[in-house]
Amino acid sequence: MFDKILIANRGEIALRVLRAAKELGIQTVAVHSTADADAMHVRLADESVCIGPPPARDSYLNIPALIAACEITGADAVHPGYGFLSENARFAEMLDAHKIVFIGPRADHIRSMGDKIEAKRTAKRLGIPCVPGSEGGVSDDDEALRIASEIGFPVIIKAASGGGGKGMKVVRNAADMSVALATARTEAKANFGDDAVYIEKYLEKPRHIEIQVLGDGQGNAIHLGERDCSLQRRHQKVWEEGPSPALNLGMREDIGEICAKAMRELGYLGAGTVEFLYEDGKFYFIEMNTRIQVEHPVTEMITGVDLVHEQIKIAAGAKLTIRQDDVKIAGHAIECRINAENPRSFAPSPGQIKSYHPPGGLGVRVDSAAYQGYRIPPNYDSLVGKLIVTGRTRNECLMRLRRALDEFVVDGIQTTLPLFRTLVRNPDIQNGAYDIHWLEQFLATEPPIEA
Ligand code: ADP
Repeated sequence: MFDKILIANRGEIALRVLRAAKELGIQTVAVHSTADADAMHVRLADESVCIGPPPARDSYLNIPALIAACEITGADAVHPGYGFLSENARFAEMLDAHKIVFIGPRADHIRSMGDKIEAKRTAKRLGIPCVPGSEGGVSDDDEALRIASEIGFPVIIKAASGGGGKGMKVVRNAADMSVALATARTEAKANFGDDAVYIEKYLEKPRHIEIQVLGDGQGNAIHLGERDCSLQRRHQKVWEEGPSPALNLGMREDIGEICAKAMRELGYLGAGTVEFLYEDGKFYFIEMNTRIQVEHPVTEMITGVDLVHEQIKIAAGAKLTIRQDDVKIAGHAIECRINAENPRSFAPSPGQIKSYHPPGGLGVRVDSAAYQGYRIPPNYDSLVGKLIVTGRTRNECLMRLRRALDEFVVDGIQTTLPLFRTLVRNPDIQNGAYDIHWLEQFLATEPPIEA
């Protein structure tokens, strides 16, 4: 096992990893930018190192500074959390060259899943069902039109190196293709430094359902059921839950086993998520994330498996000790991502938290690095915390969530708490009757939510 882990992240996920490391008796090193000197992850870690000024590219994305921090503190492994360098194959390779373990998959797996065209090819080869679309990148109008006529309009143009829901273009007819393709390529280049784009069928009313997997790189891999992340705004997840209101046990076992088998074939090491769109009883692969995800607590609460413990143990060379038969899904869990944003306009609302009172009680978990007096810096993402609630049934979970949301106090900044208080009382949400477009339609038609 490792003696000391450096956590190359900030905020609630840095705390999450720190807690797992402490439980396993491993020393922790926090890194921070000058904007985060007072942050909770710095206070709770055994040691901390300042790695640069506020902009992420100079601190949390600064690979030489992170490697220097490992060498100064003698850390033998790095946990990257999510975001920042968590899916950066070069970082994994550079750590390896310095004899520091990257707590995550092999660099070649990160790289092949990071390129979404390559990822779809790999998925197809492994027997995972994919969204119909181009076999590879698409660069000229004629080719784009030929593919669109084969699969039928509407289609969606997506960036091969895309992420965070950015840069997707829906094309509804042939006349719009040329402009959409040119815009998509320009935006892809500007956002991701790579103008490669691909085309797939645009699904009109799918749900976003993703499968959590764990592999040990030694021939063993399991799945831990699904999370339904259909409630999205601008292709970004807002509310996640498990099990999905749309699946039954048989469907879960079928798609789960397809993913687990693919991971065994790949020799996948670590935690990962295979993301699908789901429509009319069919699953369509969209991408794989080779890291721990924001919404991982949903799975932890219904399986009892600590995913970060597993990541650490696997990275240290242990075989998976959980067999597929050991994974039992019990009850229901819902996660709300509470952001420092205006709940109507979603404009960021950084600043000082004047009072902070998280909810408690049976079945309530709050993953947050916030505290009373904490000043949310404007430099990073706007997540204040995640409220994860469990119940024996979905209804019990919703009842408890309503109560927990009403109890949650965050004053001094604006948050998206009022949005969730409205959602939890909505009949469609209560019935689980929503797809990936539901939230945007709701926000466009409902009376404004009181901030
Ligand atoms: P990113 O890596 O940017 O998050 P994804 O491929 O995971 O991109 O897609 C993010 C979201 O975009 C999906 O959850 C879904 O809402 C929407 N989306 C992606 N592909 C399609 C598609 N083919 N049809 C309809 N919606 C899609």
